[in-house]
Amino acid sequence: MPLLTKAPRGTADILPSESYKIRYIENTVSEIASLFGFKEIRTPVFEHTELFNRSVGETTDVVQKEMYTFEDNGKRSITLRPEGTAGCARAFLEHGLFNEPMPQKMFYLTSCYRYEKPQAGRLREFHQFGVECLGASTPAADAEIIALAQNVFDFFELDDINLEINSIGCPVCRKEYHKALLEYFESKKGDLCETCLSRLEKNPMRILDCKSPVCSAIAKDAPVVLNFLCEECDNHFKAVQKHLDAMQIPYTINPQIVRGLDYYTKTVFEFVSTSIGAQGTVCGGGRYDGLIEQLGGNSLPASGFGMGIERLKLLLEAQHTSLPEEPRVQLYIAPASKDYSFEALRLVNDLRMEGISALTDLEERSIKAQMKYANKKNVMFTMVLGSDEIESHKATVKNMDNGETKEISLDNFTEEFMRIILDAALADIGQTDNLNFGDFTLLNGGKI
Ligand code: ATP
Ligand code: MG
Repeated sequence: MPLLTKAPRGTADILPSESYKIRYIENTVSEIASLFGFKEIRTPVFEHTELFNRSVGETTDVVQKEMYTFEDNGKRSITLRPEGTAGCARAFLEHGLFNEPMPQKMFYLTSCYRYEKPQAGRLREFHQFGVECLGASTPAADAEIIALAQNVFDFFELDDINLEINSIGCPVCRKEYHKALLEYFESKKGDLCETCLSRLEKNPMRILDCKSPVCSAIAKDAPVVLNFLCEECDNHFKAVQKHLDAMQIPYTINPQIVRGLDYYTKTVFEFVSTSIGAQGTVCGGGRYDGLIEQLGGNSLPASGFGMGIERLKLLLEAQHTSLPEEPRVQLYIAPASKDYSFEALRLVNDLRMEGISALTDLEERSIKAQMKYANKKNVMFTMVLGSDEIESHKATVKNMDNGETKEISLDNFTEEFMRIILDAALADIGQTDNLNFGDFTLLNGGKI
């Protein structure tokens, strides 16, 4: 295929026929976030490269191999965001959000960019739903964000998704742990990949996160950080578990989880599914008490997570979760000829002003062709507008599902059409136990 009509590798278009599903997922997670008191934040797609070097960490895969970095015309080094936390933390500091009541809870729905090998569930442009809770140091804060992610999975009735938790301690306990790791990896030096060799001195914990099969096999037998936790971190981790127990959120402790970004401390967690292949981690997060200070602010505890929207969608598909149907267009008005397009466009416009979805002809097609189109578009009602209708100020609205027709006055058109859709919705509700998304939109959209 010629380059011009081929999207870059690792990107995906969301076509009009599919976009409502993503919109539904996004609306759902946003609503759940707001139930927990999180408000949306939007930050730029690109930031200064230094922000990610400092926060994500120089020795991480993301910074070493995956970032889209370029020099702009002003000779600044710019990077497309590989994750959402750094931009939130930067905005938090830049706008003095620390002066507001703590904790500051924010969420985002955002695109991220990583130069990775594209495969199922792994793209170069992907999307994350993320939450950040800044200013709270307690185990309850960690448990609350875990509960938020769990609520999302529960809402969609996903069962093959398991919560795994771990603690990676604080700089105090990590000192001893690093020594033990160094000792262990020194003995395997000959087999480590080159990137990991360079990590050995700077940040041996990163080796635990290496994707190379040899390194990950070596990492399996490495000492685990849980055995090195200081008293404070140990108590914190136990208290997180107590909170999860209290909310009846099931979890397993996986001492192997270290997370791919440098800013994590204490609690780390992942929600993992076996239904979507090798890229099974749908959500990852944890506590990052050091980040704000690392970016030049006063020390401030924080925790958060990032959830991959594409992986969530894959999981919904794998588990055959039914999403609500796309709302249907409520009325199609077919002008009998182009002479009536003025009146048709005026009527559909009036309807739209009242929140009713309506279409009319934009191609000067015959009535037959218009009806074919309306049928294909699955509209709920149709109506023809010609000389008879204009003269009598009356038209006939046809219910496309059952063929029923009703007369409607063109003088009191919007109000009468609202009545017709309300009657149809009530009849529908009376007839079926299953309300669908369309019914609600019809009722709300019609402002009734
Ligand atoms: P992985 O180990 O799969 O590379 P990660 O640890 O790099 O994941 P995070 O940085 O924690 O991922 O990002 C949070 C979430 O974003 C992941 O759990 C996943 O759902 C999603 N995600 C990360 N990278 C990609 C990608 N390249 N394509 C699609 N989704 C991704
Ligand atoms: Mg990764």
